[in-house]
Amino acid sequence: MPLNIPFDNTYAGLPEGFFSSQNPTPVKAPSLIAFNKDLANLLGINGGDIDEMTQTFAGNAVPTGAAPLAQLYAGHQFGNYNPQLGDGRAVLMGEVVGTDGVRRDIQLKGSGPTPYSRNGDGRAWLGPVLREYVVSEAMHALAIPTTRALAAVQTGEPVFREAAFPGAVLTRVARSHLRVGTFQVFAHRGQLENLQTLTDYAIQRHYPDATGPMDLLRAVCAAQAKLIAAWMSVGFIHGVMNTDNCSISGETIDYGPCAFMDAYAERRVFSSIDRGSRYAFANQPDIAVWNMAQLATSLLQLATNKEAAVEEATAIVHAMPSQLEAEWLKRFGAKLGIADASPADHAMIEDLLRMMEKDGSDYTNTFAALRTDTAHDQFIDRDSFNAWAVSWRERLTQEKEPTATMATANPVIIPRNHRIEEMIQAAVTGDLAPFKRLNTALATPFETTDSNLHRAPSTAEIVPATFCGT
Ligand code: AMP
Ligand code: MG
Repeated sequence: MPLNIPFDNTYAGLPEGFFSSQNPTPVKAPSLIAFNKDLANLLGINGGDIDEMTQTFAGNAVPTGAAPLAQLYAGHQFGNYNPQLGDGRAVLMGEVVGTDGVRRDIQLKGSGPTPYSRNGDGRAWLGPVLREYVVSEAMHALAIPTTRALAAVQTGEPVFREAAFPGAVLTRVARSHLRVGTFQVFAHRGQLENLQTLTDYAIQRHYPDATGPMDLLRAVCAAQAKLIAAWMSVGFIHGVMNTDNCSISGETIDYGPCAFMDAYAERRVFSSIDRGSRYAFANQPDIAVWNMAQLATSLLQLATNKEAAVEEATAIVHAMPSQLEAEWLKRFGAKLGIADASPADHAMIEDLLRMMEKDGSDYTNTFAALRTDTAHDQFIDRDSFNAWAVSWRERLTQEKEPTATMATANPVIIPRNHRIEEMIQAAVTGDLAPFKRLNTALATPFETTDSNLHRAPSTAEIVPATFCGT
């Protein structure tokens, strides 16, 4: 028996050509390993026994009201246009409207092949599934827009990557799975009717006040600027900011080779496939602008007055760097206890980051230590830090509640790469305790609850790279 889910689908009602109807492929021996009860409540999913949940989130039983489909999209991967991608190992089961009135997609990821699988097997293994579960829920707890994790199921089947690994399915929840690449596919094919339908759909679903394609572009740019600044503020490196992984809703999507940095380094890259360092930490704002330029190019196809539209689109995209700077100042000002930082504060923030880079200071712990006035411990060159701190404290005399501001800007715990690897290694041997422990601690990232998980990795513990192998 499948679970009772109050589906209310809209995407399935869009024209043929937006997707392929596709059921998940049943798996041999499913077992439920994680279920997010709080999120289920938000989605209005109540009741259901373990067996119903297991069968549903494994894709073995399709609930009444579901309309399973694989979405079509395209995208620039590492700067090169790929004319057809699409859900190659995911199916959108349908949408629900939550108790907060927000419409969200429920998607199974790792649910078997689809017409868009190309050479892939349509599957996922336990490691990336648990990584996405932990990191997306951590992002949510950090109040950063993100897709979420509703459930994880082991399939009882092997998945073959560098070796055989246990297969798994993640149930992902998103405000939608519309990507820049969803617009690109119709724009590049010259399917303008579909492009118009998609634009109307995106406006209605995400930006109901937007008056047309250029207004949609403006709204997405604003959402992306906010998102990227938020990533930077917690040291998050997405790792694969391809246009097909860039959400129109402004949520973080696709946790593949992502990682949080330990020691601060502007050029930090974790992904083993990002050989040109395109998606390095400090490149992320520029890449977001590049991605918005691709969205602009697609949306321009709808313009009747091309010349005027090109001018407008150019102005919107050109405004993005200053939006990013404003959002960056807001976030980093707060990290220093400044509620409403001004451009005059920029240099002070940069100075601190430069010192951290030089000394290899731990990013999270240094900012967290500012909360307790112990940050000098994070530096080798303490004289320089202390000199900086004098002017910082001087600046804080103008602030009403710097401690309170820092308390919600500087997490004490982030999902450190070595803890994620450790959790995955344990899960592969059947031990889910580290997964649960990590997940629990990350639910309250601004409070010290599990000090061992806060610790920066020792030299021996550092996990320097993430491998796609998803
Ligand atoms: P990603 O880099 O994870 O965003 O994936 C890029 C594209 O490859 C998307 O269209 C995915 O659906 C597809 N893909 C990734 N892994 C697989 C897989 N194991 N089987 C089929 N398609 C996949
Ligand atoms: Mg993707």
